Amino acid sequence: MQSKTIVVIGSSNTDLIIRVPRIPRAGETLLGGKFLSAAGGKGANQAVGAARSGGKVALIARVGRDAFGDRAVAGLCRDGVDVSCVFRDRSAASGAAMIFVARNGENSIAVAGGANEKLSPADVKKAAGVIRSGALLVAQLETPLATVIAAALIAAKAGLQVVLNPAPARPLPNRLLRLVSVLTPNETEAETLTGIKVTDAASAARVCATLRARGVGTVILTLGARGAFLATAGGQYRVPGFKVKAVDSTAAGDIFNGALSVALTERKTLRDAVRFANAAAALSVTRLGAQPSAPTRAEIERFLGRNH
Ligand code: ADP
Repeated sequence: MQSKTIVVIGSSNTDLIIRVPRIPRAGETLLGGKFLSAAGGKGANQAVGAARSGGKVALIARVGRDAFGDRAVAGLCRDGVDVSCVFRDRSAASGAAMIFVARNGENSIAVAGGANEKLSPADVKKAAGVIRSGALLVAQLETPLATVIAAALIAAKAGLQVVLNPAPARPLPNRLLRLVSVLTPNETEAETLTGIKVTDAASAARVCATLRARGVGTVILTLGARGAFLATAGGQYRVPGFKVKAVDSTAAGDIFNGALSVALTERKTLRDAVRFANAAAALSVTRLGAQPSAPTRAEIERFLGRNH
């Protein structure tokens, strides 16, 4: 659809999912679950989300030399993601996540980072040519912060837009935030970054103003089923979400970021880009699993056509 590449740097995991009536409590054994394994990891999810949304995508990641790593790479290839910078680690296992998904769509997740934790600034150096030739860099925080900063520095210097999904939640230094064109926290991540709890439009606006004062260009605060709150130099407003029957919210944010990145490289207006991302993410919550839930471009466009 466009010739320049969206470069995603981040994690690749295998998700081991059990669907349960409700999330088990500590010490509890809950019977009646259904098991499924699927490709996941925020980096790989966002790469696949972007590729299915119509983007040309390369992933910078690290997986083990094991069966999970082989399967993860094969899945990325099936989605047309360039895996020339997915490095194979001799000593660490591929990342894995254990996920409970409750009947009401809630989830509970534990992650063993494995090879993801060894994705290094040296790997970023090896991938520097791929980054520099891209249109946009997308990063999250399931890989070491020094690695994310190294990639953002190269990207910003080469004039790429830098989209940072600050997940999982952790405080971030201004020297990273200053490199970020578009920051996409959810409400929890926004609170971790700013200390401000998002309860209404006024607190959402305060969160965005705080982050913009720390150097971020545009803030897109995701609000679950309510969509997203958007703040730029030009103003701030909410872009409403779409009403769907939620089955599994795993990776909603990842699919949002993947689709958003594609829309940004296609020079849609910000409002339209967020609407496109809301549609892709809404479709993803109607399906089980991370990467299996990512909709195609045709599905997103049909959905937008039905819901204007
Ligand atoms: P995360 O998945 O990172 O916790 P959110 O819960 O804010 O982030 O969801 C990200 C995006 O996914 C939202 O901005 C929205 O577009 C979409 N989304 C999430 N949950 C729903 C839902 N129940 N119905 C419709 N869209 C949803």
